[in-house]
Amino acid sequence: MRVPSKAGVIEVEEKIKKIAELVKEILKELGEDVNREGIRETPYRVARMLLHELLYGYYVDPRQYLKSFAIDDDEDAIRVNGFVVVTNIPFRSLCEHHLLPIIGLAHIAYIPQNRVLGLSKFVRIVDAFARRLQIQERLTEQIAEFIYREVAPEGVMVVTEAIHTCTIMRGVKEPIKTVAITLRGKFAEDQVLRMQALNIVSLARRGTPLKEFEDLVK
Ligand SMILES: [Zn+2]
Repeated sequence: MRVPSKAGVIEVEEKIKKIAELVKEILKELGEDVNREGIRETPYRVARMLLHELLYGYYVDPRQYLKSFAIDDDEDAIRVNGFVVVTNIPFRSLCEHHLLPIIGLAHIAYIPQNRVLGLSKFVRIVDAFARRLQIQERLTEQIAEFIYREVAPEGVMVVTEAIHTCTIMRGVKEPIKTVAITLRGKFAEDQVLRMQALNIVSLARRGTPLKEFEDLVK
């Protein structure tokens, strides 16, 4: 994914240049020889990576993904009792406290009124919010709020589980997996419905059971 052209090619190139200069300063301050071969191109590479690969979400309006659809036929979604569950949507983000990767999965349940979205749309929506500096709770809120507002389902539940690599890199021995959940509409009001959706997510999610997650579905 590249920064969309609406950001302006010149503007983006200017930003890359500026950021590259600043990265160079950081490397100098750390005592590196910024002219040695392995590191010479690093400032520019890092700047390009930040803008084009890790943080392009600032330039993406996820509403663009909702323009052309009526009903998506999606084989990957699970339909139960009028709600649709899409699980195991991978996301990559950067924690705003340490600028280190957050790697996770999102699971979305919603009760469509007229619009049914397919997996590919959700993948893009999640990605648009993940590719910014984030904390997991806000990411989860933003995805839920966006779907609730723009797709207008009767209810939406978003669960994210993620490993924050800042905990690993900074010396916590066991990687800590954290779970966040946001509820809107009927999922917030109806506990039985919420439990049904959480149980389906629990069954469909990849990986080993997670204590926190199991506590949520109890
Ligand atoms: Zn962090």
